[in-house]
Amino acid sequence: MWRREVTAFSGAARVAGVVGAPVRQSLSPLIHNAWIAAAGLDAVYVPFSPEADKFDAFISGLRRGSMAGLNVTLPFKQAALALADRADEPARAAGAANLLLFDDAGAVEARNTDGIGLLYALDLQAPGWAAGSGVVVVLGAGGAARGAVAALVVAGFTVRIVNRTRERAVMLAQTFDGADAMEGERLADVFAEAFLVINATSAGLEGRGDLDPPLQALPPQAVVMDMVYRPLCTPLLRQAQARGLQTVDGLAMLVGQAIPSFQALFGRPVPPQVDVRALALAALEEGGQ
Ligand code: NAP
Repeated sequence: MWRREVTAFSGAARVAGVVGAPVRQSLSPLIHNAWIAAAGLDAVYVPFSPEADKFDAFISGLRRGSMAGLNVTLPFKQAALALADRADEPARAAGAANLLLFDDAGAVEARNTDGIGLLYALDLQAPGWAAGSGVVVVLGAGGAARGAVAALVVAGFTVRIVNRTRERAVMLAQTFDGADAMEGERLADVFAEAFLVINATSAGLEGRGDLDPPLQALPPQAVVMDMVYRPLCTPLLRQAQARGLQTVDGLAMLVGQAIPSFQALFGRPVPPQVDVRALALAALEEGGQ
């Protein structure tokens, strides 16, 4: 059983949160409230789940309010960017925002920290990955894939996109110089020249179909990352580990995107003394995942 900290906050507390539908399984409140407690802040981070067609009205109600900002998760990331008054470059490139900040004048700023989270996870769990030669293969063409491709192209990597629905991969690749869409049938050829494969599909998520990519075609130094973290060790990561490949999990990315979010929401760096990954792992175990 992971320990629940009771944090006291006053009527002047800084309020932030996460908005999604569903949001009840989000680990963000656990992570941010642990940092808040460790930093001794007069603040609180809460989950919100408006009806899907009421998202814009929900955000309008918070403009000029006392809320500092909100992380944004499925299915609102694109809508969050669309309603913002200004957006940072990663949010514009990804076509989606995972963070909204409210200012005193009633304006909303959209940011996207998922790309930072992706690179943080790779640096943490596969140090030296960026020195690999060849291409990066991104599996998927949804919102998460778009954010990953944007971050990787900006970082100077050549990206090959493969998606179940090929037209979506083609459309995504057209948005970026440095990315192209590949035929699923040619996956073994594409893998043979890859130093990094990232699963940005929801396959592998509890109850969804698994991917069966040709990991045997990857060079032995290749790194395999899965954005899915329920379960933490997905079938893809298990197969990669069985082949002796280095792996990176989605929980590291979740923590990696939360670090700059906390700085933006609460105006200070995360306190180093709290191990939020351990807390999140305990919560996943408690939830049976
Ligand atoms: P999305 O926009 O709904 O896109 C889903 C993608 O998965 C599409 O490319 C879809 O292909 C593909 N897909 C779904 N089921 C599949 C299957 N059985 N076989 C092959 N492909 C399948 O979702 P998203 O926002 O991109 O999120 C994708 C995943 O990333 C989710 O599991 C999400 O939780 C995770 N994520 C994790 C983090 C993190 O911090 N770790 C951050 C963001 C997202 P089609 O186009 O053919 O439908």
